[in-house]
Amino acid sequence: MSSTAGQVIKCKAAIAWEAGKPLSIEEVEVAPPQANEVRVKILFTSLCHTDVFFWEAKGQTPVFPRILGHEASGIVESVGEGVTDVQPGDHVLPVFTGECGECAHCKSEESNMCSLLRIDPDRGVMLNDGKTRFSKDGKPIYHFLGTSTFSEYTVVHVGCLAKINPAAPLDKVCVVSCGIATGFGATVNVAKPKKGSTVAVFGLGAVGLAAAEGARVSGAARIIGVDLNPDRFEQAKKFGVTEFVNPKDYDKPVQEVIAEMTGGGVDRSIECIGNVNAMISAFECVHDGWGKAVLVGVPPKGAVFQTLPINFLCERTLTGTFYGNYKPRTDIPGVVEQYLNKELELDKFVTHEVPFSEINKAFDLMFKGEGLRCLIRMEH
Ligand code: NAD
Ligand code: ZN
Repeated sequence: MSSTAGQVIKCKAAIAWEAGKPLSIEEVEVAPPQANEVRVKILFTSLCHTDVFFWEAKGQTPVFPRILGHEASGIVESVGEGVTDVQPGDHVLPVFTGECGECAHCKSEESNMCSLLRIDPDRGVMLNDGKTRFSKDGKPIYHFLGTSTFSEYTVVHVGCLAKINPAAPLDKVCVVSCGIATGFGATVNVAKPKKGSTVAVFGLGAVGLAAAEGARVSGAARIIGVDLNPDRFEQAKKFGVTEFVNPKDYDKPVQEVIAEMTGGGVDRSIECIGNVNAMISAFECVHDGWGKAVLVGVPPKGAVFQTLPINFLCERTLTGTFYGNYKPRTDIPGVVEQYLNKELELDKFVTHEVPFSEINKAFDLMFKGEGLRCLIRMEH
């Protein structure tokens, strides 16, 4: 047992007090884990665009004050009642969508949409008692995606933790906890391109490039990257992207451009932006008869997708996925093994690193479209 088990821990966390205001690093109190909860010492975290969407809270429900963050790695500090899967000292990745192991989704081989622990960005409290484990001066600070990793310590449901091989360097595998598993899984588990096929990837951030990496390892012959930021293209070559389309360079819809480039459309497309028009383009650019599009980007709440029903009648398929269809507890330890066995590259996704005290720089980099993932090192 650690000396802090059962005690309130005072530590630093980056609080989002209001939508769009820089995060403020302050001391918070972190209550001990309750039944089926685990308190985790976060060592590394990184910024994903999903954090930025809910921090801006434009077209999303504002929940403030809040501790954001969901892509991270850490070590179990203490466990609550009934937790047997992990123990203090275990190396873990928190995951924004969980696996209770008991529900119909967890029992199905096809789904990772756990009934109890599926992603719920509007929930700012823990399930056990409907309250927060974070507080400041006696006032609650809300959770985010059940993970809240922009804190030196956090409390998560045990079903939202993947226990991983302790040999895996936590600074490297941090990005598996969201972006890389999401993009890679969207391709290999959902789009499933055949060898020799043509794949379009919309959005060449870390999630999109992980999707491209999935296409590369699946043996795709052509990988067409679509992005508004031309600086992305040089970088994307390292991820196997073979051709680039900047929608700004054309006065017709990008789906038409892609159809012309490919003799009717791509075999698979993966949308990794979160913009509805891009989602429509990603669907409409797939070949009739067999094409399949996979949506990954998080849309604004209430956004509506419009397309002609004839596009479906002509045997195009549209689907979407959270977390690349991986079940966090069952599948993610294996993805970490793939990294350790050199079957999956992770290092190239991390282009910047900042200490926790400079976390706002990671937001600036994302706004400027510079680099891919910015690793944030906790300073315990
Ligand atoms: P990012 O900001 O690093 O990358 C997005 C890229 O899209 C950028 O290169 C940007 O220039 C480009 N872009 C923006 N608007 C565009 C447009 N209209 N047309 C073409 N390109 C455009 O973001 P990220 O962290 O890689 O995340 C990508 C998306 O995936 C976000 O929507 C995020 O919320 C979502 N996401 C979903 C899941 C999931 O499980 N479904 C998990 C993680 C992230
Ligand atoms: Zn994410």
